[in-house]
Amino acid sequence: MKFHLPFLRKHHENGGSNDDDSHLAAAFALLPEISEDAQKFLTLSKREIRIELPSTVGDGVSVFEAFRVQHNNALGPYKGGLRFHPDVDIDHFRTMASLMTWKCALMDIPFGGAKGGIVCDPKQLSQGELESLTKNYVERMIDIIGPKSDIPAPDMGTNAQIMAWIYEEYSKFHGEEPAAVTGKPIELWGSYGREEATGKGVYLNTKWAGEAIDLSFQGAKIIIQGFGNVGSHAARHLAKNGAVIVGVSDSSGAIYNSAGLDLQNLLKFKTEGGKFSEYEPTKVEKLSNTDLLEQPCDVLIPAALGDSITENNADNIKARLVVEGANNPVTPRAHRILTEKHICVVPDILANAGGVLASYFEWVQNLQRMQWDEEDVSKKFEDKLKAAWKKTSEKHRQLQVDYRTAAYCIALERVYKASLLRGFLG
Ligand code: NAD
Repeated sequence: MKFHLPFLRKHHENGGSNDDDSHLAAAFALLPEISEDAQKFLTLSKREIRIELPSTVGDGVSVFEAFRVQHNNALGPYKGGLRFHPDVDIDHFRTMASLMTWKCALMDIPFGGAKGGIVCDPKQLSQGELESLTKNYVERMIDIIGPKSDIPAPDMGTNAQIMAWIYEEYSKFHGEEPAAVTGKPIELWGSYGREEATGKGVYLNTKWAGEAIDLSFQGAKIIIQGFGNVGSHAARHLAKNGAVIVGVSDSSGAIYNSAGLDLQNLLKFKTEGGKFSEYEPTKVEKLSNTDLLEQPCDVLIPAALGDSITENNADNIKARLVVEGANNPVTPRAHRILTEKHICVVPDILANAGGVLASYFEWVQNLQRMQWDEEDVSKKFEDKLKAAWKKTSEKHRQLQVDYRTAAYCIALERVYKASLLRGFLG
């Protein structure tokens, strides 16, 4: 089967980075059974929707651009977050949707990949405006989302309340259906452990990768870029288990103390709405966000933005281990530089997959109309994540490649085989 793809954009092909290479390319090179045409099929989205969404704001009506990109559903219904942010576009959602496909495949859960959202600044909208915007989005997407077709979840700018509105609006059209969306509040059939899941997964992957490179976890010095959902929960679990948080940042700035920061104080400060640029204690050094990444530490966890570690700063990274809490925080060229420096990188599709794993458990509970207790969820969560870590480590040893390439090989093989079996590849 031949694919003619004159419209395929470089940005889409290379996973969103400006590098001339792709995280996927190294894995494709190791999988000769996947033909060039099949590679193109696996890289492209199956469906991309862009809408103009009128919604009431203040006394008038504003029109918002909104998207849903469904990348691949060979392994099951599309699954992926909704981002409400002023700086998102179709390329962004394409990249993130494909990342979801590989993440779900690596986790061995029965989902494909999708991503979507609205170009807006949720901080500038009232709760009422946000509710009507969200419900308008669901109404316009009603034919393509659902528990057996495409299941949204929270991402940057969205939260459990927004998922509750999605549940409500979806149910108006199709009858009561909690499994239509994940990341809901516990009181409305959300799952125990969902909120902290990504950060907890980052912690567990840090622990397992540390063991693999003989990095003692007790007293290990950790720097975390971004202190939102992922960064703060990762910090909490890491510190509770003996690591020392020496540096953190938010969008306002960074703070660092090589002897360790007072985590309880940081958590309280952020809960009260503080900005690190205004953090008072005298024993901390104030740094720029970019300088923080280059400070001495054992483990660096980028948990804020894509493309944070590039060819421009990779050579200055001093950590022994980089654990990707965010999506695509290390560009392909930077990854090559880190690998040459023998810095181990745990890739996003493994490191931050705890969120979608917990979402999967929420979906299963909702379909069964059951709610598991915290202990039950926690055990299932750790077992499944550990299985993905073990499989990736085995592949890494077997093929003598970095963890990212190993993880992509596993994911690509699964999606490729499922696509063949379904007849997607002709
Ligand atoms: P969040 O909005 O809760 O937190 C983001 C944090 O990053 C905030 O503290 C913000 O101030 C900070 N930040 C923004 N710009 C920064 C900069 N230039 N330098 C330093 N810090 C900066 O978001 P989140 O849910 O924690 O997500 C963080 C990343 O993890 C995103 O890339 C997201 O796609 C990814 N991710 C999140 C989840 C999840 O379950 N939340 C799952 C998988 C991946």
